[in-house]
Amino acid sequence: MKTADVLNHMNGTAISLNGFNHDEIGDEHLLTGMETPMRADAFKMSDEEKKQKISYHFAEIMETLGLDLNDDSLKGTPNRVAKMYIEEIFSGLNPMNKPKVALFDNKYQYNQMLIEKNIQFYSNCEHHFVPIMGKAHVAYISSGKVIGLSKLNRIVQYYAKRPQVQERLTNQIATELCEILQTDDVAVIIDAKHLCVSSRGVKDDSSTTITSYYGGVFNTPEKIIELQNFLNN
Ligand SMILES: [Zn+2]
Repeated sequence: MKTADVLNHMNGTAISLNGFNHDEIGDEHLLTGMETPMRADAFKMSDEEKKQKISYHFAEIMETLGLDLNDDSLKGTPNRVAKMYIEEIFSGLNPMNKPKVALFDNKYQYNQMLIEKNIQFYSNCEHHFVPIMGKAHVAYISSGKVIGLSKLNRIVQYYAKRPQVQERLTNQIATELCEILQTDDVAVIIDAKHLCVSSRGVKDDSSTTITSYYGGVFNTPEKIIELQNFLNN
């Protein structure tokens, strides 16, 4: 992939496959856009119907692998996986589960950066459906409104609970915060471990991936250094 294409997709423009096939795109964890690719009819089916369908198909996968679904330990697995997909690890696909956020006036006129650091999250790689886990650090400067601190964590968790690509997760959290807080002065840094890199593939257990978004005044050398100093302490 050429640098121009990388910049292009970081700006949120969908990229062409550029001569790569779909297997290569997935194996290299390249993302093709900043929006989670969803079908228009994504929510026509009820959660209950989705669970039944996933359970049926997951049982098929297990059977194909040669597992005996009559075994007492395995019997409930298809249902358990279906419930976990819909209610927990992929619940962030459904906009109904988006955290409700109340805005408050910035009464004390605190006009410096506010950082919520080390927000632990669990997500899943959309190319292999295995865990991505890590920490998100988010920062903003109030434009006159503030939100409860726990909401910053909840917004991170909501977007993490999707099949993800780390660059997209970073941008989705940033875009959401800009919209809610009505400011461009938002920064998001994510440091995460991808099990598809450590437990399979190249089996590198020590590497982590860092992605960042610096918007508005955060996109200056001074602010980036100030933010990094807080994060390193
Ligand atoms: Zn992966």
